[in-house]
Amino acid sequence: MHTNFINYISCPICHSATIHRVLAAKDYTVSQKEFEIWECSTCTFRFTQNAPDAVAINAYYQSENYISHSNTNKGLVNQLYHAVRKQTLTRKRRLVNARSANNGNSGSLLDIGAGTGAFVQHMEQHGWKATGLEPDETARQRALEAHQVKLLPIEELNIIPAESFDAITMWHVLEHVHALHDCIRQIKKIIKPTGYIFIAVPNYTSYDAGLYKSYWAAYDVPRHLYHFSPASMEQLLENHGLTLHGIKPMWFDSFYISMLSEQYKTGHSNIVKAFFNGAVSNLKAVFNKEYCSSLIYVIGK
Ligand SMILES: [Zn+2]
Repeated sequence: MHTNFINYISCPICHSATIHRVLAAKDYTVSQKEFEIWECSTCTFRFTQNAPDAVAINAYYQSENYISHSNTNKGLVNQLYHAVRKQTLTRKRRLVNARSANNGNSGSLLDIGAGTGAFVQHMEQHGWKATGLEPDETARQRALEAHQVKLLPIEELNIIPAESFDAITMWHVLEHVHALHDCIRQIKKIIKPTGYIFIAVPNYTSYDAGLYKSYWAAYDVPRHLYHFSPASMEQLLENHGLTLHGIKPMWFDSFYISMLSEQYKTGHSNIVKAFFNGAVSNLKAVFNKEYCSSLIYVIGK
């Protein structure tokens, strides 16, 4: 078995050498192994220390429980996940439409890390010319069967010509990408000058992250290589000469993440408690977005 781990001696974003361990989190879905999460004192970015490299990580995606790629409907948490996904499709589309050059409903869109293609299909049904990239072959196959969309392998990203898209979306994908800076450079190249990039990532400065600490489900080690705060995302964008135009909270994620976290912490799901904690998280986010479990960053050139 290929086992190479990435040991950072400086911050992957701002390169500061002032980094320190903050907690150890467990991989609850696949390996049950523990991984350390470190933080940069300069830009507040957190990252999984000694995470498996781009080859070794594949072993950590081999699970029936890894629901991003599955369409099974068993289990309450899975059911909630699918309900949430359906609701968020509409919300994501409205967000993209609000920034489109001709006020919605058209243009070219690239969805990176398209999973089983639900968002690509949804956008095509609403007038967009949508392309989806997905590294996992099984997911691409399921996209054809479940959503009748043909997704392309992720390698295609590097051969897309400059200024090709009006919108680029990455829904909970960037935290999985080993070649972080190459990825940002490439999306900056292929977005049109008038286009917008939408990046959704978990937010470790959220209320629920603070509450559940190492049990917080959105640490999802080692698949999540990075754990962003709004400040560290701003630093990353600034380094690449991109402009942050806005931050949008993802309300439903707080409930879903609280439910999973509650399950990790206590060994069983407590819907009432998870719902309460999710609701508190969202209430706080009404007054301060930094308390929301997941954030969508709206980015332009
Ligand atoms: Zn840093």
